[in-house]
Amino acid sequence: MALAQYENDMSACSRCSSCKWMPFNQVKSWRFARNCPSLARFTAHPYSGSGKMTMGLSVLKQRSELTEQVAEIVYSCQMCGACDVSCKVYRDDIDLSEVLMELRASCVESGQLIADHMMTVDALKKENNVFGEPRDRRGDWAEGLGLKDTNQETVDVLLHAGCRYSYDRELWPVLRGAVDLLRKAGIEVGVAGAQEACCGGRVYELGYQGEAANFADDMLSRINASGAGVLLTACSDCFSALRYLYPKMGKDPGVEVAHLSGFLADLVADGRIELAEPVPIKVTYHDPCHLGRMGEPFVPWQGDKLGRPQQLKRAGRRGVYDEPRAVLRAIPGLELVEMERIREYSWCCGAGGGVLDAYPEFGSWTALERLEEAEATGARALVTSCPWCVRAFRDSASEHGKELEIIELSELVSRATGTAVASEQGVGG
Ligand code: SF4
Ligand code: SF4
Repeated sequence: MALAQYENDMSACSRCSSCKWMPFNQVKSWRFARNCPSLARFTAHPYSGSGKMTMGLSVLKQRSELTEQVAEIVYSCQMCGACDVSCKVYRDDIDLSEVLMELRASCVESGQLIADHMMTVDALKKENNVFGEPRDRRGDWAEGLGLKDTNQETVDVLLHAGCRYSYDRELWPVLRGAVDLLRKAGIEVGVAGAQEACCGGRVYELGYQGEAANFADDMLSRINASGAGVLLTACSDCFSALRYLYPKMGKDPGVEVAHLSGFLADLVADGRIELAEPVPIKVTYHDPCHLGRMGEPFVPWQGDKLGRPQQLKRAGRRGVYDEPRAVLRAIPGLELVEMERIREYSWCCGAGGGVLDAYPEFGSWTALERLEEAEATGARALVTSCPWCVRAFRDSASEHGKELEIIELSELVSRATGTAVASEQGVGG
């Protein structure tokens, strides 16, 4: 089992518990000092990053079995990577996120499957999306926009919408508004429409690595056929899959992989998008896990002078953090206030790791924690750059009666250019 590759990592854990908290020099209050949603919710050591490594080592050494109860704990985890970056503040020889991924792959290998995740995987195999929606409706979000069809012609920029934007009707105006912004800046994107398929990142995280490889191959063939030099996505999950998981699987996308937030930041900096319209609102920014610490590019570890056998390094510092903030700071009249857990130490939105499918109450609680952190800043709105985060926060806010507005970054940009597209939730001003 591939878990064996990480025996050294699991054995090296000193049980110091640093993975359970923000690094101490980052802590600003007791209330928001925790970093692990799983441990915070279930309050028992096995749910922590360290606890899962202990279980992994025990299973690997055949001191215990991978039972249904163990699998429940392994999957009650957002795969957010917060434990990993906190550990790496002190240790450079443990890749906790990789252990968690291989532990899930071991669950799949040994038949310890979560019923809701099996449904997701079946939906993907049948309809090419994680919701099981009809595959021929995937391109409906772009209807009437007149975008180039990459199945028919070559393009410079291939826009990959991803499953959430493709099938979440309430979020369609966000992506359509982003396309409008790009067009006004002189950038024509092409889409694969109904031929687009899931990037495979979600199934990889669920432990179905073979299925993920199939979706990656499909994506690479579409990128190749499009002739694009840039693969643009507005989804942080897809971004992370393309920047990290694909190269890790030995599948080089062969193009520049860009996220909409960085793309917009460049266009604003170049003056191709002019933010002239004041947007007088106090906002805080949520760093999506898969755009930030899990969105780092994959860099294979070559070993070091001591001959230590690490293969990967993922400390979270090379994620996308500055670009969305630069966009927000360029909007006249807007005030940006920061939460306590930011950048690589961000708290998860609750949508990661298949938790929303299998344990929705846990997902909603995780989002609520973040909403309360955002409220503590005095902000009127929480801005983020991922449709999964937007969905998780909007649902939790509505469930728990929170007034906070949830806004996708490009919605604010549209408003600051005077071209806002109405969405159901709207954009404050
Ligand atoms: S995983 Fe890292 S931070 Fe957590 S207990 Fe082990 S060594 Fe400490
Ligand atoms: S990945 Fe996130 S939820 Fe899972 S153990 Fe680590 S910090 Fe906790």
